[in-house]
Amino acid sequence: MTDARPLLTIEDMRIHYDSVRGAYKVVDGVDIEVHRNEIFGLAGESGCGKSTLVEGILRLIEPPGHIRSGTALFRPFPEDPERSLDLVQLDYHEMREIRWKHLSYIPQGSMNSLNPVMRIRDQMTDVVMHHEPGGQNEINRNIAAALEMVGLPESLGTLYPHELSGGMKQRVCIAMSMLLQPALVVADEPTTALDVNVQRAVLETIAHLRDQMGAAVVFVSHDLAVHAELVDRMAIMYAGVVMELGTVYEIFDNPQHPYTKRLIHSIPALGGPRERLESIPGMAPSPLAWPEGCRFHPRCPDAVPACSSTTPRTIELDTGRKVTCHLFDPDIDLEQGSA
Ligand code: SF4
Repeated sequence: MTDARPLLTIEDMRIHYDSVRGAYKVVDGVDIEVHRNEIFGLAGESGCGKSTLVEGILRLIEPPGHIRSGTALFRPFPEDPERSLDLVQLDYHEMREIRWKHLSYIPQGSMNSLNPVMRIRDQMTDVVMHHEPGGQNEINRNIAAALEMVGLPESLGTLYPHELSGGMKQRVCIAMSMLLQPALVVADEPTTALDVNVQRAVLETIAHLRDQMGAAVVFVSHDLAVHAELVDRMAIMYAGVVMELGTVYEIFDNPQHPYTKRLIHSIPALGGPRERLESIPGMAPSPLAWPEGCRFHPRCPDAVPACSSTTPRTIELDTGRKVTCHLFDPDIDLEQGSA
């Protein structure tokens, strides 16, 4: 029987950056579950905390940043479903053992993350050798299979990064991320700065990770159109918290949260009448001083008196969708804010 528990359960994750002016609370209480074999999207404006969240679970946060609290339970062992790892608690060496093998990363600007003085095949060999040392022939076969899966010829392994186009380098990074067939791949803005044709090829490659390899993918992008194309479920983040979480159909066809609605209405539709796009008034607040009450209240056209004084709870709707907004909370007095 398949294990129905989530592959990754993030609970109350808080990631802060200390400064002389105080703590920047970039991620401030996030709960998310990622299931096996799904593509989970993280969306929101720049600075909402989505990249910091994934860097946190990958343990890539450097001082003065730190994980202040929270857990990230990872269950990559289908043969031992009871076993889980709290990524937050792993030390450097334990993290190194699971990186690439169970959990891999396609970083922002990954095209520039390749070593410029090593041939592609040698860089990929290094990844395999650390975890599964074996004969060079077997390693070459794995590398050829990974390159083929992203639509690149085996012969490309003999080239240096500067001999490849941006799209090819991006696909090499994706091939490296899947070399050891990890259970979870985290892709942070993998299509940013690519032209639309290459973007399409990269999206198809990421969908392949799920379809052919059975991997789950956490896909981070500020581009809602890309989410609509690729993901199964998604979370909309704002000011370090999740405002709405649901399937991609729920989010795009019937957004509930005032912030999600404005985000969706701010992107042009390909069909339908030509009409003026709505923008969200004002600027996203600073993580040094989030507004009291609901963090979206200074920009929210639906705000009620409770919004400026009381922090909204996350409410689960009957469809399983989650919304962090007073308007959905039956226990809140919208005029006063007291629960
Ligand atoms: Fe708008 Fe209030 Fe809901 Fe926040 S809690 S999104 S301010 S209505």
